[in-house]
Amino acid sequence: MVDLVSQYEKIKSSVLPLFEEIMSKAQFINGPEVTAFQNELQDYLGVKHVIPCANGTDALQISLMALGLKPGDEVITPSFTYIATTEVIALLGLKPVFVEVDPNTFCINTDAVRKAITTKTKAIVPVHLYGQSADMEPLLKIANEYNLFIIEDNAQGIGAEYAFSSGLKQKTGTIGDIGCTSFFPSKNLGCFGDGGALCTNSDDLAVKIRMIANHGQSKKYHHDVVGCNSRLDNLQAGVLRIKLRELDGYIYARQQAASFYNAAFKENEKIEIPFQSEYSSHVFHQYTIKLKDVNRDMLHEFLKDKNIPSMIYYPIPAHRQKMFAHFNLACELPQTDQLTHQVLSLPMHTELEQDQLDYITQEVLKFVN
Ligand SMILES: *Cc1c(COP(=O)(O)O)cnc(C)c1O
Repeated sequence: MVDLVSQYEKIKSSVLPLFEEIMSKAQFINGPEVTAFQNELQDYLGVKHVIPCANGTDALQISLMALGLKPGDEVITPSFTYIATTEVIALLGLKPVFVEVDPNTFCINTDAVRKAITTKTKAIVPVHLYGQSADMEPLLKIANEYNLFIIEDNAQGIGAEYAFSSGLKQKTGTIGDIGCTSFFPSKNLGCFGDGGALCTNSDDLAVKIRMIANHGQSKKYHHDVVGCNSRLDNLQAGVLRIKLRELDGYIYARQQAASFYNAAFKENEKIEIPFQSEYSSHVFHQYTIKLKDVNRDMLHEFLKDKNIPSMIYYPIPAHRQKMFAHFNLACELPQTDQLTHQVLSLPMHTELEQDQLDYITQEVLKFVN
């Protein structure tokens, strides 16, 4: 699905001397690379504050803590997402309220959000799934109307740009109150282990987030709120600085691979290629097709036999997970259920070669036709 080894070969000559330097100085925690990366990511995203942390799941958890949500508060989120988005809501004693996604974009359905609002609703967590922005403008309008917070789960969307009807463009993760991202190795901007970050344009939230990520500490040994320990280490920050310079090139390589897939599949009526919304660029964290009148699971097995990896993101939606059974969720999400049977993600990374793309598309078409 990904080829991080070939990608590493291309940046090795910058990474190794940097690691050597960091290790020879034993600057592992809170080193200069962390601050430099934070500033460079702020510039790249066009956001006032970036606060690095240990992983994307922590970023989501810390964002809910920073907004001061209390047990019993309701948080509206799609069920069709990676479990981390929804798990942290329950972890903090909040109630996840699952809604449908738009079956074209795979992102949260705005009308469903509006219908799910109650007096207990405090926040909305849209997910920029597979690398395309959720439709943020109507969500901001709803949030404004009902006084709700928006936390963007930007783990798959880093680098994508959302266009408002005014023509203004903003990078995903910088539009809501807080944006959360992950630097897990396979993400579009991945490090060599775990990493994550939060971003916000609010000075007040930035102070709270920094404090929570550092044991609730306001100054040394003064702990004002209950927090956690969530840091990005200096080695990871160093790699991320090197890879941030390559990010737009990485995104371009993904988009080129996606264009090739699109051209090969677009005439086939059993394959629905990724929908391109008019309001967002697509950074193709995943290249995900929807299959019609094709046994998706048999195609998955067929490709495996041909040495072609493919993945089902996600086979079980959040509202059907045992971990949420105690909420007695009455929700019915037929579109989400249907998507879990239709989607298939094909290999997508920065190092796909023409002959690999040829082989993958030929074999997919062979099965489907
Ligand atoms: C990867 C991912 C996360 C979690 O990030 P980690 O760094 O693995 O904790 C959260 N949400 C989505 C949508 C993701 O893809």
